[in-house]
Amino acid sequence: MCAGCGRRFAKAALVRFTVRETAEGRELALGGSSGDGWGGRGGYVCASLDCYDRAFSRKTLVRRMKVSSESKDLREEFARLIEARQRQE
Ligand SMILES: [Zn+2]
Repeated sequence: MCAGCGRRFAKAALVRFTVRETAEGRELALGGSSGDGWGGRGGYVCASLDCYDRAFSRKTLVRRMKVSSESKDLREEFARLIEARQRQE
């Protein structure tokens, strides 16, 4: 389910966010899957910057995942990722 619009999508259509432990604390990062040692916490946003902004302005993901902040470049990274996906279609 998308944390921005709340609609259901196929998992392949969603972008996953996971919590990464850094020296500065817990940080939200793009990607990761349950099998790669990132742990079970994750959130999903559909491939839309609107939904990204909505999810973060409501602090839905940040709160749910108990992180101090998302990394500053995350939005840019997210934009590049969905752009790349659209090109593939
Ligand atoms: Zn959405």
